[in-house]
Amino acid sequence: MISRKELFFRHLAQTSPSPPALEIAGAEGTYIIDASGKKYLDLISGISVSSLGHGNVEIRKAIHQQIDNHLHIMVYGEYVISPQVELVSQLAACLPDSLQNIFLTNSGTEATEGAMKLAKRYTGRSGFISFRNSYHGSTQGALSICGNEELKSAYRPLLPDHRILDFNNTGHLDFITENTAAVFIEPIQAEAGIIVPENGFLEKVRKKCTEKNALLVFDEIQTGMGRTGKLFAFEHDHVVPDILLLGKAFGGGMPLGAFISSSEIMRSLTKDPALGHLTTTGGHPACCAAAVASLRILKSTEIIESIPEKEKLFKSLLKNKKISSVRGRGLLLAIEFENEMVNQKVIQRCFENGLLTDWFLFAPHCLRIAPPLIISSEEIKTACSAILESINTI
Ligand code: PMP
Repeated sequence: MISRKELFFRHLAQTSPSPPALEIAGAEGTYIIDASGKKYLDLISGISVSSLGHGNVEIRKAIHQQIDNHLHIMVYGEYVISPQVELVSQLAACLPDSLQNIFLTNSGTEATEGAMKLAKRYTGRSGFISFRNSYHGSTQGALSICGNEELKSAYRPLLPDHRILDFNNTGHLDFITENTAAVFIEPIQAEAGIIVPENGFLEKVRKKCTEKNALLVFDEIQTGMGRTGKLFAFEHDHVVPDILLLGKAFGGGMPLGAFISSSEIMRSLTKDPALGHLTTTGGHPACCAAAVASLRILKSTEIIESIPEKEKLFKSLLKNKKISSVRGRGLLLAIEFENEMVNQKVIQRCFENGLLTDWFLFAPHCLRIAPPLIISSEEIKTACSAILESINTI
């Protein structure tokens, strides 16, 4: 009989040259269990998705109730679908006055696409700016504004009017001009290896965008929903974007994204021509039900408040002469090693020691720490011991 792993390699299309192909039997809380029954402490949350841990009871209950009521009814935005309305109204209550109009999508990437189209329509301009080693998604629009040439060069021609600036480099901001439709920026860069803004950088970007009437788009697909110790990372810097992108953890483990703006800006998708962005299953009722439950938990518990302490604990325990730095904010951290080879060896050792970690798309020498936000102090201590032990045995 052909094993499941063989079928995986034979029929499930892959783009990664050597996937770990861990065969999953189940997942609960902060743990993932493989087919042999081995338990792994999850330090990556499926790349910043499973923020409330695996199998959260309230989220599961919300999904069950919704699927017993109805699944897909109509293409997005035509009928009053209660989990969608509940989600957007509860989310709007957490956002500033200028971010009260929410378009629900299937994914983070689609949120980027929607925002790019919206910026073109609202400003009548075609120029986009993003930052070195930024990642905003993998479709052709999102790839056009990707800040890493290696990932995109095979797909040229992409959108022509795009410029990459250096994150935290104020001198580069003069490239934001009257031709710029929008500046896309992650308020904390994730796949670049967790780069935090310095010296009021976001405020300076905001100022320049306002000066040039370019829209400022914060991609919080990875940083949003509490991951950095605030519901949204932009709250750390007190800078409000014109468009906000959500995805990943937003769906509570289900596929969901959003681009969010003011009614005035969003209205430009409704006329000349209308139907400026269309999706059939964006904001799927079951995904919205999960997102409502997830947002309710984040708002009604101390989970987000507990994050700075957890960040501190990780940073205080991860001390070793082979570690060049530990950087990041909240539970979005990177351990920087001398080179990619050391990192790969540590990741492999961690795996053998029952700890799931990963690297970053554009920082292969950095180890990713983005556990479920519910990780306990004891689990953090266990994780750090396993990482240090792995480092010492390579
Ligand atoms: N933006 C950022 C900052 C991301 O990290 C990602 C996914 N890694 C995306 C956009 C794309 O999201 P998705 O893969 O869910 O479409």
